[in-house]
Amino acid sequence: MTTVLPGSIVGVLGSGQLGRMFAIAARRMGYRVHTYSPDADTPTGQVADLEIQGAYEDLDAVEAFARNVKVVTFEFENVPFATTVAAEKHAPVRPAGSVLHTSQQRLREKGFLRNAGLPVANFFAVRTLADLEAGIRRVGLPCVLKTASFGYDGKGQSKIETIEQAADAWKSIAGHEAIVEAWVDFEKEVSVVAARGMDGSFAHWGVIENDHHHHILDISTAPAIVTPAVEKRAIELARTVLEQLQVVGVLCIEMFLTRRGELLINELAPRPHNSGHLTFDASVTSQFEQQLRAVCGLPLGSTELLHPAAMANLLGDLWSEGEPDWAAALSIPDVKLHLYGKIEPRRGRKMGHLTALAASSAEAREKVLEARRRLTRS
Ligand code: AMP
Repeated sequence: MTTVLPGSIVGVLGSGQLGRMFAIAARRMGYRVHTYSPDADTPTGQVADLEIQGAYEDLDAVEAFARNVKVVTFEFENVPFATTVAAEKHAPVRPAGSVLHTSQQRLREKGFLRNAGLPVANFFAVRTLADLEAGIRRVGLPCVLKTASFGYDGKGQSKIETIEQAADAWKSIAGHEAIVEAWVDFEKEVSVVAARGMDGSFAHWGVIENDHHHHILDISTAPAIVTPAVEKRAIELARTVLEQLQVVGVLCIEMFLTRRGELLINELAPRPHNSGHLTFDASVTSQFEQQLRAVCGLPLGSTELLHPAAMANLLGDLWSEGEPDWAAALSIPDVKLHLYGKIEPRRGRKMGHLTALAASSAEAREKVLEARRRLTRS
């Protein structure tokens, strides 16, 4: 096992905000960062040493990128598997492309979880309208139809309340391969962001509580208000997933906590996660520094939470009445602003986030909500 030391070049596939925060952590520790994606002037590219613009399918260009770096990681989970195979010819890819392959397609992801004996909502594979109707009878109503690939932030999803809605739902996802899944009447949504080192060491940031708005993460708070038994179980589930997938890096498991206190895994993200952004300001080691440490073969850092914290996403919608009032939000001293350098504030686009620190999760949540309100209160 060779350690990738500071001064080396780390390669990132993908160039969004996750790569940007990773690059900030890496540069702080003296690494150099190259990023590869189809876009230019990207959130990651703005802070990387080198931004390479190329298609993920251009495997010669991917190989050239990998030849110049010591290790490759990714920040975008829809990087094609073949891209990681090409990169792997020249530099280790961590987490391995196989982890990406499992988690980027819902059928493979849910199949892996079910085969590993991990709890998931009942689901059924759908390739035809007849499958969907059979699936609805199996999982019951209401249920949700989700495309198997390229679904994130609620895209490619359709809730079904009656059997008559099946045909319309099938049409809405344009006949793509999908899963139909039982609707979960959850009490709350939680996540565990965790890391696994090359030596098998494991670290986690505890349970984080998440509120979604229109299927997009809105607010995260840590620590989550859950019973010690739920906390223990959630962390155990995360550890099992990281071990079973032999992850080297960071992975987030998103879960539903049902009203009966049961945890069901909804999704895996084999990279730092939006719900872990608060670790940047609130923890000894952020999820981004931890990803760097893990993929470079360094010891994992302490994940101790220094303060209860809350994070609020800033979507492009906030710009609809002009530039948000940054000074007003920052007049609350324990509030930190992160902007991702995106030029165009489109509706629903994640432009940045605020983190608030306080004496309790509830107080941090109130504070971050107040800070966000101040952005648009004229
Ligand atoms: P996903 O794209 O699967 O992460 O779903 C996005 C959001 O939709 C989740 O965070 C939930 O808020 C909601 N959702 C997804 N699947 C279900 C389900 N089976 N039951 C209830 N809500 C769901």
